[in-house]
Amino acid sequence: MNTLPPGSTIGIIGAGQLGRMLGVAAAQLGYRIHVFAPASGPACDVNNAFTAAAYDDEAALAQFAEAVDVVTYEFENIEAAPIATLAKSVPVRPSAQALSIAQDRTQEKTFVEKLGGRAAPWRAVTNRQELDSAIAEIGCPAILKTIRFGYDGKGQARLASADDADAAWDAIGGNPAILEGFVDFDHEFSIVLARGMDGAHASYPPPLNGHEDGILARSTVPAPAQVAALWTEAAALAGRVADALDYVGVLTLEFFAGKDGPIFNEMAPRVHNSGHWTIEGAVTSQFENHIRAICGLPLGSTAVTGSRVEMENLIGDQAKRWPRIIAEPEAHLHLYGKSEIRPGRKMGHVTRVWR
Ligand code: AMP
Repeated sequence: MNTLPPGSTIGIIGAGQLGRMLGVAAAQLGYRIHVFAPASGPACDVNNAFTAAAYDDEAALAQFAEAVDVVTYEFENIEAAPIATLAKSVPVRPSAQALSIAQDRTQEKTFVEKLGGRAAPWRAVTNRQELDSAIAEIGCPAILKTIRFGYDGKGQARLASADDADAAWDAIGGNPAILEGFVDFDHEFSIVLARGMDGAHASYPPPLNGHEDGILARSTVPAPAQVAALWTEAAALAGRVADALDYVGVLTLEFFAGKDGPIFNEMAPRVHNSGHWTIEGAVTSQFENHIRAICGLPLGSTAVTGSRVEMENLIGDQAKRWPRIIAEPEAHLHLYGKSEIRPGRKMGHVTRVWR
C-alpha cells in the first residue's frame, strides 16, 4: 500500500466545517493541511496553507497539486471536470468519478439500483411536459428534486396532487430534475462507511436521523431495533457501492426505513453530518478514518464508546445556547467559528455520550 507518512500535506477542496473537522483529525495524526476554496471559511482556522481561488481555476489547481501529496474534497457541489484534471498530477481520493456520480441524482440512483439497492420509484424530468407524464406514471404524493446542487432539502418541491405541478416546476426553477414517489417511512438512517486503499471496509452503527425543515437536527445511536435490523443489508450495499467505485475514503448512504426494508435515498462522497457523533461516540471518528484511508493507513475501530450517543446540530440561533451546553457533564461542544448567525445555517453541534 502506498502510505503517505505523517508530515505529508493533505489538500482539502472546500473550507466548510467538514474541512475543519478533517483538518483537526489530520493534525492529530501529524499531517499538514492545505485548503483550496474561493473564500475563507471554518477550515481556515486549522490549516497550514490556504489558496483562495475558484474551484475551476485550472492554473491555481495546478499550483495546488504541486504543493500537496494527496487531495480530498469536503463537499460535492463542485464541477468534476477540473477535479479529474487535477487527478492527473496528484492522487485525488475519493475519485472524480465518485464525485460525478454522487452529484447527479439520476446517476447515483441508477448506479445503486444496479448493485441491488432499492430506491423510491423515480423518473427523470427535463421539461414541464415530462413532469405530467412522470406524475401519470408515479402518482402523488411525490417530490420533485433537482438533479444537481440540491442539499438540506433545497432544490425540492412536494406535490400533494397533480394540481401542484406548475408550482413545483416553478419552485425548482425549471431545472433538470427527478420526480420521486413519496416513501411512507418510519425512520431515516445513514450508513457511514470507510474504505481503505487496500479495499478494507469499516462501517459505523447506523444512527437514527431526525430532520427539521429538511435539515438534519439530530442523530442518535443506537437506532431503534427496526433500523438496527437493516444495518447488515444497508452496510453491505454501501460496501458494494464503494467497491464498484474503487472508493477510498468515507462514503455515506442515506436510507428510509419502512416495512419494505432499506430504501436508498442518496449518497455523499464524503464525511457526513450524520457521522459527527463519531468524534466522541466512536473509537475512531469518521474524520480520522477518512484521513487514514486517503493516506493509505489501516482503518481504525468503529466501535461505539458509550451506551447511548446523541449528536444535536446547532442551527442558527440555537448556537447561542452554548454557555448552557458547555456546563452539561456529558456534552462535547463543537462550534464552527462562523461569525454570522443566519437562519438554517449550521453553526456547530453538540455530542452527548452516556457511558
Ligand atoms: P434529500 O435532499 O433527498 O435528502 O431530502 C431531504 C429530506 O426530504 C429527506 O431527509 C426526507 O426527510 C425528505 N424526503 C426526501 N425524499 C423523500 C421521499 N421520496 N419520500 C419521503 N420523504 C422524502
